[in-house]
Amino acid sequence: MSTIDLHSHSNASDGSLTPQELVAQAAAAGITHLALTDHDTTQGLAEAQTAATGCNIELIPAVEISTQWRGHSVHVVGVHIKPTHPALAMALAELQQTRAQRAEQIAELLRRVGFADALEVTRRLAGDGMITRTHFAQYIVQSGRARNVKAVFERFLTPGKPGYVATRWPELADAIDRIRQAGGQAILAHPQRYKLSATARRELAGHFKEAGGVGIEVVAGTGHGPDIQSNAELARRFDLLASAGSDFHSNEHCWLKLGRLPPLPADLVPIWSRW
Ligand code: AMP
Ligand code: MN
Ligand code: MN
Ligand code: MN
Repeated sequence: MSTIDLHSHSNASDGSLTPQELVAQAAAAGITHLALTDHDTTQGLAEAQTAATGCNIELIPAVEISTQWRGHSVHVVGVHIKPTHPALAMALAELQQTRAQRAEQIAELLRRVGFADALEVTRRLAGDGMITRTHFAQYIVQSGRARNVKAVFERFLTPGKPGYVATRWPELADAIDRIRQAGGQAILAHPQRYKLSATARRELAGHFKEAGGVGIEVVAGTGHGPDIQSNAELARRFDLLASAGSDFHSNEHCWLKLGRLPPLPADLVPIWSRW
């Protein structure tokens, strides 16, 4: 089992633990290297770093950027970034605006289907962190109109559903560029989660590499064997370094527990082997 986890969330975005709690839990699970990769924000990194120093675990400064590629929403993880670099900080500030406006639009759509106070409650749930669809989902579950977060996404928050807002995220190549300018390495997040054909997925990985991306999550999300194999093929084909991340959000909803990642296929080069 790998003790390195390069994808996790705190309550600076849509995770349920504070950065400090997340780091403590990672350390208790035997993780030696943890990347905190909140959606479009580096706000939790300072607290995570302080906590990491206290429990002898290496905290890798990171972020998960929302982007678009051919109209699909695609996530890019940037590791070893300098969070204060202006090129990156400016892009993240814009994303914060984008998310704030999008939250207003989602709330307006939800109002039309009977949710009166979505914006107010969702803002409260997000606190000073980024507002995400996860917060809207939590609000709708609390309202009693859906069983769980997954059901909310299916009924309200995905394309074609009443609370879905198509969002203009920055272009994939632009996000990669910002990560590089900030001294970081760009990793294509959870490649199997996008609704793409096998051909389009290969094209995505190819474009990602051409645009300056260096890594790909091979062990990601569910950690299912066939997904790992498909990701490994992309890594080999496009000569991308392999990464592994649980995408941990909370102890209630997680596919992979912190510190419980299956190993990378032995022929791949782990991204951390070059650090
Ligand atoms: P956003 O970035 O605001 O669009 O929110 C996306 C987040 O919602 C993802 O990072 C996941 O944490 C969560 N999410 C997306 N789809 C689902 C789903 N089907 N079930 C549960 N959570 C989801
Ligand atoms: Mn999330
Ligand atoms: Mn993601
Ligand atoms: Mn994530």
